[in-house]
Amino acid sequence: MHVLVLGGTTEARRLAELLVEVFPAGARLTSSLAGRVAGPRLPPGEVRIGGFGGADGLAAWLRTHRVDALIDATHPFAGTISFNAAAAAAEAHVPLLALRRPGWVPGDGDDWHPAGSLAEAAAALPALGRRVFLTTGRMGLAAFAGLDELWFLMRSVDAPEAPYPARMEVLLDRGPFTLDGERELIRRHRIDVVVTKDSGGAATAPKLAAAREARIPVVVVRRPPVPRGIPVVDGPEGAVAWLREHFSRQGWATADPAQPSG
Ligand code: NAP
Repeated sequence: MHVLVLGGTTEARRLAELLVEVFPAGARLTSSLAGRVAGPRLPPGEVRIGGFGGADGLAAWLRTHRVDALIDATHPFAGTISFNAAAAAAEAHVPLLALRRPGWVPGDGDDWHPAGSLAEAAAALPALGRRVFLTTGRMGLAAFAGLDELWFLMRSVDAPEAPYPARMEVLLDRGPFTLDGERELIRRHRIDVVVTKDSGGAATAPKLAAAREARIPVVVVRRPPVPRGIPVVDGPEGAVAWLREHFSRQGWATADPAQPSG
């Protein structure tokens, strides 16, 4: 039994940690990372890094490495690899599951402005504020590059490459972030609007509470849809349950989840 996890997220790492504990003896786990981040936190088990060369490349990898199940645990906004995973799984006849953390939900006092894309978010900004806390990551900054009248605090894990906004300060940092820290950033930089993807999860959510407290608007970029027909679970435990069900014929489902078997 060989399971390939497409990763690059906290949930994918957590899934790998769970799987190495409960996998039956002889089972193989490979996690795949895109290689975007310098010095990534590596999950346990085998790890491969770098693209597959599109859907055909991924399908070939599934066949060559005799993969029995594919779990797409990539970031909710990593739409290309998810699309490729669906195509490759169909081509190679490998069962596929998508693991997606739940999106964020606005609460009382939130002033959220949904956007369908980074370009839509950029178009909405001039009407909402002048000093922008941009938390959508270093990819796709070109969408904001023409907004010369706005100032940006751009936070990302690694340094961005041009094109990006002319008036931009870069803050290199990696979550989890704290409410105190986010409050302080908003205060110190006199931020009057926040831009975020609907990434979900706790690690980067404190900016939303800080924006609510500061009574400033948040532009929230909607997620791309999961490819049609692919089953979805919202956490690593759900993915383990799905695998157990799939491999029940090989005798794995009878193992007690609380009793690591290999
Ligand atoms: P993407 O646009 O969906 O994918 C672009 C290409 O990168 C894919 O076609 C594939 O190349 C390669 N790739 C992506 N994920 C891969 C993986 N796990 N293993 C091997 N190759 C992968 O992805 P992205 O938005 O650039 O994100 C890249 C990675 O960063 C993802 O793994 C994702 O989980 C993580 N991440 C993304 C975000 C975000 O906001 N997008 C945030 C945090 C983490 P080939 O076509 O050559 O196979």
